[in-house]
Amino acid sequence: MGERLGVLGGTFDPIHCGHVLLAQSVREQLDLDRILFIPAADPPHKRSADLTAADHRWAMVELAITGLAGLEPSSLEIDRGGTSYTIDTLRQLAVQHEDADLHLIIGADNICDLSTWHDPEAILSIARVVAGARRQAGISTHERFADRIMQLDTPLFEVSSTLVRQRLRDHQSIRYLVPPTVEAYIFDQRLYGVSDKGRIS
Ligand code: ATP
Repeated sequence: MGERLGVLGGTFDPIHCGHVLLAQSVREQLDLDRILFIPAADPPHKRSADLTAADHRWAMVELAITGLAGLEPSSLEIDRGGTSYTIDTLRQLAVQHEDADLHLIIGADNICDLSTWHDPEAILSIARVVAGARRQAGISTHERFADRIMQLDTPLFEVSSTLVRQRLRDHQSIRYLVPPTVEAYIFDQRLYGVSDKGRIS
């Protein structure tokens, strides 16, 4: 039996504690060997003009999960470049890790979007799709693929990258929403329009 490998793709602009909690909880519940955090080069559903440079998003992912057992960054989508379709990533992983049992991890808010993704049938045939709870969004009965998605009870932590960016713009604290190393990086690199004055300590 091959490795039980989790895949958590995202824009990670920036990575926050909700991402890490989701991954740790899924890893424990499904006894996964590893979860790869894969920042998108160019996510299909977001405006690329608004995106923070990939090297910064990558650096923050590395800082957030370094030293956490079983969580690893992967630059597969950044290295591939172009629009980051999940199906292409899964196909690449299936070749690189021939025997792996692939688990694609998504937040529950993404369940309803699966049918809008590129080739959902192929995604479901290559990987088990696992959804963590978010905003108590249960699987909509309208979702075509609902019965093929495994839904797990993971801690609800109401944070999004949008909220983090908004709070920074409004000069509000992001403490406890992102790992301390990520907070320091954001201020050191002056990302999201922050100035050093916004630092709490
Ligand atoms: P944005 O606010 O910019 O849209 P986001 O916070 O949703 O970003 P993404 O990088 O797009 O972050 O998310 C990657 C994955 O993590 C998605 O599957 C998303 O559903 C999931 N996710 C994001 N935030 C949470 C959270 N607080 N709890 C559980 N899952 C989450």
